Amino acid sequence: MSLALLVDGIGELVTNDPSLGEGPLGIVTKACLVAENGRVVFVGPADRAPPADKRIAAHGRCVLPGFVDSHTHLVFAGDRSEEFEARMLGRPYSAGGINSTVASTRAGSNAELSDVAARLVDEALRQGTTTLETKSGYGLTVDDEERSLRVAADVTDEVTFLGAHVVPTEYSGDPGAYVALVTGEMLERCAPLAKWCDVYCEEGAFDADEAREILAAGADKGLGLRVHANQLGYGPGARLAAETGATSADHVTYLDNKDIAALLDANVVATLIPAAEFSTRSRYADGRALADAGVSVALASGCNPGTSYTTSIPFTIALAVRECGLSVDEAIAAATSGGARALLRDDVGTLSPGKRADLVILDAPSRVHLAYRPGVDLVATVVRGGEVAFQSPARKDAGRG
Ligand SMILES: [Zn+2]
Repeated sequence: MSLALLVDGIGELVTNDPSLGEGPLGIVTKACLVAENGRVVFVGPADRAPPADKRIAAHGRCVLPGFVDSHTHLVFAGDRSEEFEARMLGRPYSAGGINSTVASTRAGSNAELSDVAARLVDEALRQGTTTLETKSGYGLTVDDEERSLRVAADVTDEVTFLGAHVVPTEYSGDPGAYVALVTGEMLERCAPLAKWCDVYCEEGAFDADEAREILAAGADKGLGLRVHANQLGYGPGARLAAETGATSADHVTYLDNKDIAALLDANVVATLIPAAEFSTRSRYADGRALADAGVSVALASGCNPGTSYTTSIPFTIALAVRECGLSVDEAIAAATSGGARALLRDDVGTLSPGKRADLVILDAPSRVHLAYRPGVDLVATVVRGGEVAFQSPARKDAGRG
């Protein structure tokens, strides 16, 4: 039997449900929240709350939905810190750097891959991420992609097949043969293990025709579609995402007005990954233009060993506000309900009755502190499925009674 959990004394509660409180984020002040059987059952003033067995006193702190990180690459082995260091000294990033992680991943044992993925999921949880997507894409053989997806499925339900990450070196002379492998035997073995099919549509990776073929094959197997699009330059990725009915176009750093219109018309979520731009010292995506156009925006860490080795959504929120032109509230919505939309999830990203009781208690009076105090770990407590999943030893003043 699951016991009911009461979180009371919440100074500022972000529900993401405008019917429950003020503004688009549905902010409720002086609130309490009750969870039972893993779900939110009550949001409102303490004197109307149903009885509970366990209590967390928030002491006036801010509570918000657990972050939904809709784009990570956590199944890999190896370290690319030297590449990062060199890049910071002026060498530009090219998509081929992925092949160095491919070599380490192929050489890694299953246990090693599982350890890395589990460690990073735990690291993300400690920073408030309660739902995340993760991908294959560093195996690039049938066997290595399949085992990567098995590792991914051990840490999340949101598993993405990314056999089309880059053309591996052994196929560099014949990329067509690799596309045939991805859409043939590899997809056959991998589709049953995945929910999504993704493709890196970029110069140096897959062109529009190749990406279209791969996405069509994935859709034929019943997979939802996502596209790495327009990260390194203008190109066909975002329009292809719209054309193929993809749920999300990710990165979208270089977009023209037609690309934005295509995303809007096809209801494709634009997933910003500003930590990749930070870590590659690249131009940032124009989140302001996307939000002003009315495109749904999500915010993801893009965690991967090459171009964005961070699991921190708070850091990503600070970057999106500082560099992508989003307001604090837009960035927070993008990292919670926006991420949920990018994964077609209606059970997470919102704290209203019936939703999963996944929430973060910040050691701060206001959500604004997420962007206002960059680099400071403000996460005091993380509740997932109605249970305390993380309690910061440094910020344990949020008392459990
Ligand atoms: Zn990625």
